[in-house]
Amino acid sequence: MRNFSYLRAASAEEARREAGAAGALLLAGGTTLLDLAKCGVAEPEKVIDITFLTGLDAIRVDAEGVVIGALAKMSRVADDAGIKELFPAVSEALWQAASAQIRNMASLGGNLMQRTRCAYFRDPASFPACNKRNPGSGCSAIGGVTRGHAVLGVSDSCIATYPGDLATALVAFDAVVHLGERRIAVEDFFLLPGDTPEREHTIQPGELITAIGIPASSAARRSTYLKIRDRQSYEFAAASAAVGLELEADGKTIRDLRVALGGVATKPWRARAVEQALRGKPLETEAVRRASLLAMEGAVDHGANRYKIELAPRVVARAILTLGESA
Ligand code: FAD
Ligand code: SF4
Repeated sequence: MRNFSYLRAASAEEARREAGAAGALLLAGGTTLLDLAKCGVAEPEKVIDITFLTGLDAIRVDAEGVVIGALAKMSRVADDAGIKELFPAVSEALWQAASAQIRNMASLGGNLMQRTRCAYFRDPASFPACNKRNPGSGCSAIGGVTRGHAVLGVSDSCIATYPGDLATALVAFDAVVHLGERRIAVEDFFLLPGDTPEREHTIQPGELITAIGIPASSAARRSTYLKIRDRQSYEFAAASAAVGLELEADGKTIRDLRVALGGVATKPWRARAVEQALRGKPLETEAVRRASLLAMEGAVDHGANRYKIELAPRVVARAILTLGESA
């Protein structure tokens, strides 16, 4: 691990100014940045600690929705009464992420910015070829062990899965990232790999995530996050779905449906084809199962990750039907 200098930022302005310099990286909870520094993926020259900035950890809930400060801890947001009532899928996604110790340290801003768990990406000493780490060097995963890799949004340059749970729930409910005054939809904040997989976000050097806003909606109020993984705790998703459902007054017809997928795509993935196929239709098991297959439109497997193409629609269907049963 390379030596770096450390600065405790006294204000958001100072953090932005310092983070704009080449080789500088922001530090929040440190639960992923330190791992990346230890394995040689992150090589900061200067670390700008933002954990002591005041006013960036508030959770403000009102009739319009919620605005959550970027420094709010995952565990606090997951347990917030307003979040649990208005956005249960967001609370559930956070509860099912990482471990209790990590959730107590980690911030929402850092969570969005977490990087792929592709084993080749995280082992530069053994696998020099990685287009995300070293543009133009090739991809060690294509032709390698791909069980955890993405089937949606992949390119010939990179098939790495975006691993976060929170962002999947945020994309389902049209959440917005606040970068100071600049606002951008969470869906547009994340970039597809294309032929530049090293570019993962639209955030610019010197920009700081200050908050995340989620608009209130009836679909978000009746929502859930279903995460399927190799073990029941402390594991990333093999496939997950954030789903929100609003029914008409008859209790049978779907008025609004939101579906986003995690664990299967290179960025948090909104499954609009499933939503469109079911809006205005009766909530019936067979129709839901059929429509859920549309979540995999355009999917491309690389051998060992083929199971995700079968698994993900089942996760989507189960989440929708579970919400329907509780209606
Ligand atoms: P840091 O480590 O401090 O920062 C992470 C990155 O974000 C850095 O590049 C930093 O520069 C940048 N950053 C931080 N704050 C800001 C900001 N405000 N503006 C701009 N950039 C910023 N996550 C899941 O979703 N699901 C899981 O199942 C899961 N399992 C995990 C298991 C393990 C063993 C570990 C180590 C992590 C796991 N995680 C999981 C990831 C975990 O949620 C993240 O490590 C955590 O959320 C990162 O938050 P942090 O505040 O510690 O970020
Ligand atoms: Fe690197 Fe992406 Fe290939 Fe993994 S999948 S080795 S992150 S280029």
